[in-house]
Amino acid sequence: MSARMVVIGGGLAGVTAALAAADAGVEVTLLEGRPRLGGATFSLRRDDMWLDNGQHVFLRCCTEYIAFLERVGSADKVYLQPRMDVPVRTPWGTRTRLARSGLPAPLHLSSALARYPLLTMAGRARVGLAALALRRLDPADPALDEVTFAAWLDRFGVTAREREAMWDLIGIATLNLPATEASLAMAVKVFRTGVLDRNDGADIGWSLVPLQELHGDASARALAKAGVRVRLRARVDALDAGDGGFVVHAGGERIEAEAVVLAVPHYDAARLLPAGALLLDDVLADPNLLTGLGTSPIVNLHVVYDRPVLDTPLAAGIGSPVQWMFDRSAGHGLAPGRYVAVSLSAAGREIDLTSAQLRDRFVPELARVLPAARQARVERFVVTKERSATFRPAPGSGRLRPGPRTAIPGLALAGAWTATGWPATMEGAVRSGLSAAREALPHLGRTRAIPERTTPL
Ligand SMILES: Cc1cc2nc3c(=O)[nH]c(=O)nc-3n(C[C@H](O)[C@H](O)[C@H](O)COP(=O)(O)OP(=O)(O)OC[C@H]3O[C@@H](n4cnc5c(N)ncnc54)[C@H](O)[C@@H]3O)c2cc1C
Repeated sequence: MSARMVVIGGGLAGVTAALAAADAGVEVTLLEGRPRLGGATFSLRRDDMWLDNGQHVFLRCCTEYIAFLERVGSADKVYLQPRMDVPVRTPWGTRTRLARSGLPAPLHLSSALARYPLLTMAGRARVGLAALALRRLDPADPALDEVTFAAWLDRFGVTAREREAMWDLIGIATLNLPATEASLAMAVKVFRTGVLDRNDGADIGWSLVPLQELHGDASARALAKAGVRVRLRARVDALDAGDGGFVVHAGGERIEAEAVVLAVPHYDAARLLPAGALLLDDVLADPNLLTGLGTSPIVNLHVVYDRPVLDTPLAAGIGSPVQWMFDRSAGHGLAPGRYVAVSLSAAGREIDLTSAQLRDRFVPELARVLPAARQARVERFVVTKERSATFRPAPGSGRLRPGPRTAIPGLALAGAWTATGWPATMEGAVRSGLSAAREALPHLGRTRAIPERTTPL
């Protein structure tokens, strides 16, 4: 069997690359090892409920992801806040919110900061000064990838408590590492693009339907319509590069291609990349170096109560191991506020706990931050774990993220872990797929530019 382009991996990066290539008139085959598309974003059936493997949110600054949703026909299946509004709860009874105003950036957050009761006056001043200084940093500056975000915040005297109340609130969920471990470069990217450069960048969006419907199933339809051949349960065992092109080996089958987009996680790419292909900083590198990007886990707790306990669509916990809570009752025939999905990022402490241990630890913690949960009975408690949810955007990770170009013409890399400038996000995945298509298509004689959506920073 022959195909002009083979895309390996059916996550958001691979689907994006395949659609871009098909839109450019290329014959594309997409090979996905699992029985479904959508990669790290999927849903699983537990008894009579569809649960997402992990709550996924996006921000208004995720312009290419939003365009992806439009491309696969899912744009009407998400909700995007008209203005960023994050209800915050503490175990000691604080109910507050971080909401932006319509003022231009960075003034859009000034009134929220002035009223935020989890910071002292001096703390607000420190946070404000750090925010203004952060706006002047360039996330592409390699020096910023040498230090942790927390080490930089220390220079402003930001205390651990202020870090938790302000920076980690957003940082842990987007970077999947706390400020004490995350690269300053990645934190600057998140806070500048999302929060500080535009007043609307951090308006929060989420899916109204199971992720599988939003991404995987919608992608399958869009790919079929674009003429892409999709092969599921087609795990690629090896990728050979020769003079005339590539041979992809999947389950005993040989598939020839003139161009390949490798859109698998970094630890799979380390195994599949042909020798002499990987370029890091334009220098040939050993593919095994990619494993140095490491992995960071995410755990989600799906808790169904016998009555409503959460009275906002989402809320963040401060001073509690409960990080973010989402009301997922809609679509399950439940009254609002009964099904709470708790998202625990950078979940090194939780990943090896059993479901019973997590229940023992988190049901009381939820009752502390959600007073209505104190009288409520837990009807269902399900845990979903993703041990390798993302790479670790720690200092030094920037050096280990290759761009789409490899040393072998016609072979391009994609994946949220590649050098997109973004942390491992859906936006990064889509951007990487577009970049890989831009890299590979000229090799097939397609030179029409793939447009970029307005890109903050
Ligand atoms: C629990 C969780 C919560 C998250 N929350 C958010 C969030 O709120 N917001 C956000 O923006 N991002 C979030 N992310 C990150 C986001 O989901 C990922 O960054 C993004 O989906 C990665 O897409 P990708 O295409 O790069 O990789 P993947 O989705 O990992 O896709 C790679 C695909 O390659 C396939 N594959 C691997 N090896 C082979 C092989 N040999 N042959 C064939 N196929 C192969 C895999 O099966 C997979 O489908 C979260 C991730 C997780 C796990």
